[in-house]
Amino acid sequence: MKVHVEPVSAIVMDIEGTTSSARHVYEVLFPYARAAMATWVEQHGDEPVTRKAIAEVAEQLGVESTDTAAIVAQLVQWIDDDVKAAPLKTLQGLIWQEGYSRGELTSHMFDDVPPTLRTWHIAGIPLVIYSSGSVAAQKALFAHAPDGDLDSLIGANFDITTAGPKRERDSYTRIAQALNAKPEQLLFLSDIQAELDAARAAGWQVVGVLREGETQATASGAPLISSFTELEVLPASEPDC
Ligand SMILES: [Mg+2]
Repeated sequence: MKVHVEPVSAIVMDIEGTTSSARHVYEVLFPYARAAMATWVEQHGDEPVTRKAIAEVAEQLGVESTDTAAIVAQLVQWIDDDVKAAPLKTLQGLIWQEGYSRGELTSHMFDDVPPTLRTWHIAGIPLVIYSSGSVAAQKALFAHAPDGDLDSLIGANFDITTAGPKRERDSYTRIAQALNAKPEQLLFLSDIQAELDAARAAGWQVVGVLREGETQATASGAPLISSFTELEVLPASEPDC
């Protein structure tokens, strides 16, 4: 079924359950990061980004940042509990980036996503990602899509450290400001009702994505699609102000 939306100055997309299988994250990416965490902390602990993340975990735990055993144990526990902690997201992003570049990981995209993103890109619609996964993880995931690089189609990336939590209206207001866009000309695609509600509260257009085989909240109120091909969308003709 086709879903028609008002012209947009950008399409902002969630990843898990929207462009990509959430199951892939839990069954492939999380276990990969879990297995690699201790080695990563040991080998990259002197590098600025990793050192900063370790210091943040140490501070939250109330231990010295040299207590890598306790820090790694906490990071692994956060993975097991699916806690969206910023330092964990940072380290996972770095670990996955290396996994992709080594060819040990490939990302998952639903079949309709790569061709539709290319169509939208060619139509002149800016494409934006907003995911709780770090920007580094987002870019790595899109750069290593099964049928080639998609990251080059993405004009901007936001995560919880740059935009704020996904279920809060202010995060969407912040993104609209960063994009210099009118809220009503932004379209958010997500599988989570609370995220759609937050975006709508910020004045955005929203469409729920119900993917086969994925679990998600009931998307009441918002129009629903099960494939990006169902979306009829045009670029806003008036320039952003
Ligand atoms: Mg999602």
